Amino acid sequence: MKDKKIYIAGHRGMVGSAIHRKYASEGYTNIVTRTSGELNLIRQDKVEEFFEKERPQYVVVAAAKVGGILANSIYRAQFLYENLMIESNIIHAAYKYGAEKLLFLGSSCIYPKLAPQPLKEEYLLTSPLEETNEPYAIAKIAGIKLCESYYRQYGSNFISVMPTNLYGPFDNYDLKTSHVMPALIRKFHEAKVNNKEEVEVWGTGTPLREFLYVDDLADACYYVMQQVNAPDLYEKGISQINIGTGEDLTIAELVTIIADVVGFEGKIKYDTSKPDGTPRKLMDISRLHDMGWHHTTGLKEGIGKAYEWFLGNQGKRGKGEE
Ligand code: GDP
Repeated sequence: MKDKKIYIAGHRGMVGSAIHRKYASEGYTNIVTRTSGELNLIRQDKVEEFFEKERPQYVVVAAAKVGGILANSIYRAQFLYENLMIESNIIHAAYKYGAEKLLFLGSSCIYPKLAPQPLKEEYLLTSPLEETNEPYAIAKIAGIKLCESYYRQYGSNFISVMPTNLYGPFDNYDLKTSHVMPALIRKFHEAKVNNKEEVEVWGTGTPLREFLYVDDLADACYYVMQQVNAPDLYEKGISQINIGTGEDLTIAELVTIIADVVGFEGKIKYDTSKPDGTPRKLMDISRLHDMGWHHTTGLKEGIGKAYEWFLGNQGKRGKGEE
């Protein structure tokens, strides 16, 4: 089992690197990786060549073009095109070269903007998406449906998981393109070291979000890869499994915790010219809990670890597309 050849696509990004750490720590010795310089996942011919040569038995699709609310609303064509290409190329090549199992990672933004909360797996495709990240969400929904369709047509054991908002080592700390957690860790840190009196937070502070430490996500992915097969989803009327903590808080509450962890004591200014995005995004994770998986890292503890990584690695940034 532990000598299975596993290809982790996106191993230099926050998610892929955490999954890589997890498989390595579990004793997997045959982990295959390629940087984006070595293998351009947007190129179908290159991806096929790679699969033909390596023929991985397990495949984890953690490669994607990712970004926060602003990046998603600006680079709309790139988010749609690059993600469609990456997932189509990998999923088809995995099928063509006989991969035994594939895990595709999406995101909670695949759920409709006004879906009831918490978000159940069944709510996929029940009403319109949030407009800021619609292109990314459409690409991820296509990835989920690729996995399902390859199962239905060819019997492939391809499954999808949808993590909630993630944070941790190798996150993207670039203020223009990052998600809220790394952006605020950086803003509070810089305000503290530069003795600034005020930090600017986007939006109204009222949106509710759920956050999962990325090593907990990797643990959940490992668990799902071991326990769940395609029929467990598709024969039970769902196409994907949610991964999260099941707990959410407002951006304003998050601000208080980050300020406390970082040690910033100044004022907060809400810039309401910036978008709030979807009002609430909380996953229903009953399925995962019923299967016996729970997260272990508390929010304050996780933010402390993320801040520690940031302090040791400023200047480096995770690359979701690698
Ligand atoms: P979302 O979960 O897809 O909406 O993406 P984000 O993580 O980028 O944003 C989550 C929420 O945090 C939104 O309501 C943002 O307006 C808010 N937010 C507050 N300050 C920031 C910031 O500095 N950067 C980002 N990306 N979001 C922020």
